[in-house]
Amino acid sequence: MSDRLPVQPWMTSGPARRVMQALEGERPGSARFVGGCVRNALLDMPIADVDIATQLTPDVVERVMRAAGIAVHPTGVEHGTLTVVADNHPFEVTTLRRDVETDGRRAVVAFTEDWAEDAQRRDFRLNALYADPDGALHDPTGGGLEDARERRIVFVGHAETRIREDYLRILRFFRFNAWYGRGAPDPEGLAACGALRAGLESISVERIWSELKKLLGAPDPVPALRAMAAAGVLEQATPEAGDLDGLERLVSLERNEGFVPDALLRIAALIGRDAGATKSLTRRLKASNEERDRLVSAARDDTPVSVAMADRDIRRTLYLSGAAVFRDRVMLDWAAQGGDAKGWRRLLSMTDGWVRPVMPVGGDDVLAAGVPAGPAVGEAMRRIESAWVDSDFTSTRETLLKLARPGA
Ligand code: ATP
Ligand code: MG
Repeated sequence: MSDRLPVQPWMTSGPARRVMQALEGERPGSARFVGGCVRNALLDMPIADVDIATQLTPDVVERVMRAAGIAVHPTGVEHGTLTVVADNHPFEVTTLRRDVETDGRRAVVAFTEDWAEDAQRRDFRLNALYADPDGALHDPTGGGLEDARERRIVFVGHAETRIREDYLRILRFFRFNAWYGRGAPDPEGLAACGALRAGLESISVERIWSELKKLLGAPDPVPALRAMAAAGVLEQATPEAGDLDGLERLVSLERNEGFVPDALLRIAALIGRDAGATKSLTRRLKASNEERDRLVSAARDDTPVSVAMADRDIRRTLYLSGAAVFRDRVMLDWAAQGGDAKGWRRLLSMTDGWVRPVMPVGGDDVLAAGVPAGPAVGEAMRRIESAWVDSDFTSTRETLLKLARPGA
């Protein structure tokens, strides 16, 4: 690993160069790439977003961007962050900062021109690496490059002190271990996370939920989660979700069978089949309605799946549960029960291109057949639908309409 980043397409791509040139035009040497983009480029992993650190204050950044025809949005201007959009590509440009005051959740910051001070307030040495526009690397903490080489996650400075400044760093420690770590987590960091885990109580549930999903999205989150459980952090963060063996089975299924990791499905596996626990976790962490519905549907056992199902039972279950819920249940049961991959794949293949059949009879038809308006219509519709499903969706409109009036 050299002290220079091999020049990457995202660094030289039009939009990144435009932004860097605008900043450097104001003052040479005043802007560097930082954080995830530098880290991932060093580790040869895909880059999610490009963060830029600069000595220029936000008002100057805003002026030079506008002069260069680049749009500016004050997304976190009180913390010195502007989102600038060049040719439809967003970049977060943040003025170098040092913490003035921290309370475990948020910080009061002051601007600085000192790269080393900016590095001191970042969480891990690996996340405090900076790259000039030409790729020259800077490692102000002195440990970031070595950590990248060794693939270890080490706090900048004293772990306990850094966690007390922002308890979310406990979860970030496990997230970065899951994604980029190798071997056992750094002992000092791990011990500090365990000792201070109760501090997670003070962190907003939205931040916890978002961090948890990122952790579960790692290629193999199981070792980091086991370390998290052993340190008491998993129980602290998600008392409802501790089925590590279940999660491990799903992760190996994904790997062996070539499925793309799905963080939410992994959370379902970690909770285990428990609709009550699922409801409590999603309510407590304020998951979105869509996330909650998906997790709760996957956990319920009203329309079970099994590898031995006949095709017509699969069609019935698909109709009753929907294809997305059906897929989730197949994956979870396959992971839990194992067995014949061909059999499980047959179930999944039936969801490909599945279109929910439309019943050939509607409420108007039932009324026209002489059923009086009111609750009788609903009753008739339910009777007809159940006969139609029982017929494997083959009954004709004529046959079904005969059921509109019982005994008719
Ligand atoms: P990715 O974007 O791939 O999730 P990242 O490292 O860029 O990873 P971000 O959350 O985008 O993560 O943060 C960008 C950088 O800001 C981090 O690399 C780190 O240096 C710093 N940072 C972010 N959150 C914190 C925090 N809670 N405490 C200290 N530093 C942080
Ligand atoms: Mg980032």
